[in-house]
Amino acid sequence: AVHVHGISKSFGSLKVLDDVELNLPAGSVTAILGPSGSGKSTLLRTINHLERVDDGFISIDGDLVGYRQKGDTLYELKEKDILKRRADIGMVFQNFNLFPHLTVLENLVEAPLHVRGLGRDEAIRLAHELITRVGLSDKINAYPRQLSGGQQQRVAIARSLALRPKVLLFDEPTSALDPELVGEVLDVIKELARTGTTLVIVTHEIGFAREVADTVVFMEAGRVLEQGPPARIFNEAQHPRMREFLARVL
Ligand code: ATP
Ligand code: MG
Repeated sequence: AVHVHGISKSFGSLKVLDDVELNLPAGSVTAILGPSGSGKSTLLRTINHLERVDDGFISIDGDLVGYRQKGDTLYELKEKDILKRRADIGMVFQNFNLFPHLTVLENLVEAPLHVRGLGRDEAIRLAHELITRVGLSDKINAYPRQLSGGQQQRVAIARSLALRPKVLLFDEPTSALDPELVGEVLDVIKELARTGTTLVIVTHEIGFAREVADTVVFMEAGRVLEQGPPARIFNEAQHPRMREFLARVL
């Protein structure tokens, strides 16, 4: 389970996250919605400690993210330990971020070899298993540039699964894709949801959020204005700002 406890974050005088509180049970799927600049990406980045918080804390299965506690004080972990903890948290970006000079197979074995310390044979076996899971076993020796955007994103998802993360964060995973490629990526994410991986997805795909998410979170100006099951959030949004937002995207 992921617990985001009262986190706040400012860039200079701009408060980007304002006392955000979220509880994500193990195996749950959370969709985060909100207008541009509302703090969605920053929230994801704090969950894997790519961004420090000014206040509050985040824990995953009870372990603090980025910090250790002594008495009442939190101390930031050493870089080495931050990286270790971060291996529990997969992240998939809008622009795939594959290593362009490596084949699909090499992209997939990189992290298990170097972060998890798997043997080469085992890492290769895992790569084959994961690439099959995203339906691309025939592309295992291709380079990223030889793949469509949708295929690259499916490889990126397989790569983040290679570390066997406890939680997987997606930041608008389909927004850089041509419309006809969106479905294949959403299908892979849906499959992950079925297998019980804890997922957090920033998305503008309302239909997808309605169908797959257990919880929909609506953010604006760094605050969570509404959170709840999709049926309630989409049909009975209380907050006028959320209703306006939905009217624009639906
Ligand atoms: P979008 O839907 O456009 O991706 P978002 O909800 O993901 O938006 P964020 O990227 O989290 O929004 O940004 C929230 C606010 O924080 C924005 O006003 C942005 O300009 C600001 N911001 C983000 N990162 C930084 C940074 N490193 N330095 C200064 N300001 C930043
Ligand atoms: Mg963003």
